[in-house]
Amino acid sequence: MKTIRIVDILKKSENYLQSEVNVKGWVRTKRGNSAVNFIALNDGSIVHSLQIVADVAAFDPELLKKVTTGACLSVTGTLVSSMGKGQTVEIQAKYIEVLGTADPEKYPLQKKGHSMEFLREIAHLRFRTNYFGCVMRLRHAMAFAIHQYFNDRGFVYLHTPLITGSDTEGAGEMFQVTTLDMENLPRTPEGKVDYSKDFFGKLTSLTVSGQLNGELGAMALGKIYTFGPTFRAENSNTPRHLAEFWMIEPEMAFYEIEDNMDLAEDFIRYLVNYALEHNADDLQFLNDMFDKTLLERLQSVDKEAFARLSYTEAIDILLKSGHNFEVPVEWGMDLQSEHERFLVEQHCRKPVILTDYPEAIKAFYMKQNDDGKTVRGMDILFPKIGEIIGGSEREADLDKLLRVIRSRHMKEDVLDWYLDTRRFGTAPHSGFGLGFERLLLFVTGMANIRDVIPFPRTPQNADF
Ligand code: ATP
Ligand code: MN
Repeated sequence: MKTIRIVDILKKSENYLQSEVNVKGWVRTKRGNSAVNFIALNDGSIVHSLQIVADVAAFDPELLKKVTTGACLSVTGTLVSSMGKGQTVEIQAKYIEVLGTADPEKYPLQKKGHSMEFLREIAHLRFRTNYFGCVMRLRHAMAFAIHQYFNDRGFVYLHTPLITGSDTEGAGEMFQVTTLDMENLPRTPEGKVDYSKDFFGKLTSLTVSGQLNGELGAMALGKIYTFGPTFRAENSNTPRHLAEFWMIEPEMAFYEIEDNMDLAEDFIRYLVNYALEHNADDLQFLNDMFDKTLLERLQSVDKEAFARLSYTEAIDILLKSGHNFEVPVEWGMDLQSEHERFLVEQHCRKPVILTDYPEAIKAFYMKQNDDGKTVRGMDILFPKIGEIIGGSEREADLDKLLRVIRSRHMKEDVLDWYLDTRRFGTAPHSGFGLGFERLLLFVTGMANIRDVIPFPRTPQNADF
């Protein structure tokens, strides 16, 4: 007999009522008395479990004993209307097969609620909880919607390399990739590590961003996007940073900063609306059980435009606020999360796009403004999360770009291939990076980034 997914049974029960069906899934709870057992079975297709009713007299007592929380069952029976409250249909079981038992003494997910911290320690099993079922279905839906959005708009999905010989930001937060024997390193006559003996014949690392490669694609294909893993060895143990995270990076020829902002805003709105439309049950569950204002926050994204402020205006607002910040506000500083949160949560009370940052605190490739002080960068800040997007219009002028590269003492030869975009047929272009897990923090209402990725990688933690 064909197995029916529980989502189909619950959402299209009229197709199955009074007929015999087979379902397979994992036991969430079992309760009942000496006459009848009620088993809540979940197969991951929907947050809700299906109620299985088993008349004790009709089954081998040894079999029913094995039906414990966490066990995997195949159940065949008739789908009937339920008289109990909490469900509209249930299966009157005829055959139950225990596919896999779960020793109640050892299975860690018994029915009581578990803290997110505890669930992180058993991250390999936490998919079996309603929370993580919801989060993982939302994660899937968002990944799918991202491809849908760009495909519908003529963007080409470009695969940029994960192993790189260049460093996008010029920062030192990269994981090195090597096959050299750490216990016995080859040395140059000067005593330095001889990377010419390494696998790639030079020092290589895991990528922190696909942008530089993405720009090459955009300057030929028009509009591209990347969507892949990104690695940062920043030792910041925060609820918003992972060592391995996924990033979406669109890059568009002929886009100026305003076009870039419009795209980013439209993109986020599309994704949030997609989740509201396609994952209503998951969002309702998270709203009811975890964060009572989640749905309201998500719905508000469609209602009003994001605020747009220049960095200089933002500094002004912070200075005039009279608020006592831990880190004092002054023009030229990198905004701290307390400043970002004030702007988003207290002043604007909606997502904010900040633009035109001081050149010194931004990456070398951002387009320089005529004021000689600021660059055409943009960050999008969200309530409770802070930055979810960082982007810019890129400097298209070779000489201006070279001036910054040299003044920062960056290795020009390593970037030679990148500079060819400016040497041959340069044009205005822009792009941004959206942190996938930061987006998911917003969409799921989860408070910690470790809870929106299946197997988090953070400092001192690469378990599972
Ligand atoms: P932050 O200031 O929050 O550390 P960033 O300025 O270093 O971020 P960018 O280099 O602009 O980040 O990267 C683009 C986007 O990638 C960010 O807007 C954010 O959404 C995401 N991101 C950056 N670092 C991380 C990280 N360690 N873990 C998860 N997402 C990240
Ligand atoms: Mn940034």
